[in-house]
Amino acid sequence: MDERLEHRGARSMKRGYGTLGGALAAGILLLTAAASPVRAAAPVGAAAPMPAAVPGPAGKTRNVVLIVSDGLRWQEVFTGADPTLLNEKEGGSWLSEADLKKRYWRPDADARRAALFPFLWGTVAKQGQIYGNQLKGSVARVTNGKAFSYPGYNEMSTGYPNDAIDSNEFGPNPNATVFEWLNKFDEYRGRVAIFGTWNVYDNIFNKGRSGLVMQTGWNLPRKAQETPRDALLRELFDTSTRFDEEDVWNSFLQVPLLDYVKSAHPRVLFVGYGETDNWAHQGRYDLVLDSAHRMDHFVKQLWDTMQAMPEYRGTTTFIITTDHGRGSGLTEWKEHGVEERGSENIWIAVMGPDTAALGERSRVGAVTQAQIAATVAAFVGRDYHAAEPKAALPIAGVLHGSAE
Ligand SMILES: [Zn+2]
Repeated sequence: MDERLEHRGARSMKRGYGTLGGALAAGILLLTAAASPVRAAAPVGAAAPMPAAVPGPAGKTRNVVLIVSDGLRWQEVFTGADPTLLNEKEGGSWLSEADLKKRYWRPDADARRAALFPFLWGTVAKQGQIYGNQLKGSVARVTNGKAFSYPGYNEMSTGYPNDAIDSNEFGPNPNATVFEWLNKFDEYRGRVAIFGTWNVYDNIFNKGRSGLVMQTGWNLPRKAQETPRDALLRELFDTSTRFDEEDVWNSFLQVPLLDYVKSAHPRVLFVGYGETDNWAHQGRYDLVLDSAHRMDHFVKQLWDTMQAMPEYRGTTTFIITTDHGRGSGLTEWKEHGVEERGSENIWIAVMGPDTAALGERSRVGAVTQAQIAATVAAFVGRDYHAAEPKAALPIAGVLHGSAE
């Protein structure tokens, strides 16, 4: 296969079947049709299990943050670095095997995952809960039957899958998300924000209709009064080489995100970090691990920033998850979709003042991505399922008053 076409073909798999366009499209369609994650009919996930009841009114939470690290597998989250990929041959690593192992390899799985995700395992899993360790009888999965990005973000934010969304280039989301819904309440209006590295969030959260505060991709909103820090950030946005025109570096999102939180005090916040998916598609396992490790730091930085503010201290809940899993083995870790078995499996972590510190969940009922939307709303005392009956019920085990 022509190397350029092969590359374009691989690019078209980025978070699913979404980046085709231009004169090459017809040829690429022919080349990729057989392997498309979208065209196969069999659904990836099963129907959402329904908890018996929505727990009562919210407890202490007044602010909620949903954080997504794109395409970050449950395997890395629960068992740390994969030893079969810590090399140049299978993992495509530029970093030496010795250096990579020094950073991320520990013989014990608990020590290994803590080395990769020190905040997730040192703080979130101690003070909160984490679902999705299939080795311990906890399953978290998508129900959209696609296992790529737009269907996943749609499922978690509207509360139900939409089978019509079969491409990342689907366009503006016809359905309102829980963020758009919350933004209609006086209490939250203008204080619901979407910060994400990927510009397709503009469509997923329907920027044109929703009226949400949004910063996505390489678009850096211009401020009336720029500080020297703002000006430096703008220069970096304008002059840095773009690995992906659709997706900005996680670090370039983090700076304006923290500034926004400090100045605007959002009540409901979505944060999307894209690098974990991008580097996997490039076959760079060393950078998958580095970006996962840095994402963990960014979550800690956001948590610490918010806990240092009276508006947020002790009243803020974080939900941390991924939009889809990926395949496994020596090759399929790079991709995801119906062709890569296991891509429907995800993980969901929750920490906040209303979530019992049950840690890593084991031998517990399956939870689904669709439940995240109503869970976001439930933490701030709103019954999203009542307003949108198609939406799955919240994850009962993480809510105030739950003994599960
Ligand atoms: Zn992807």
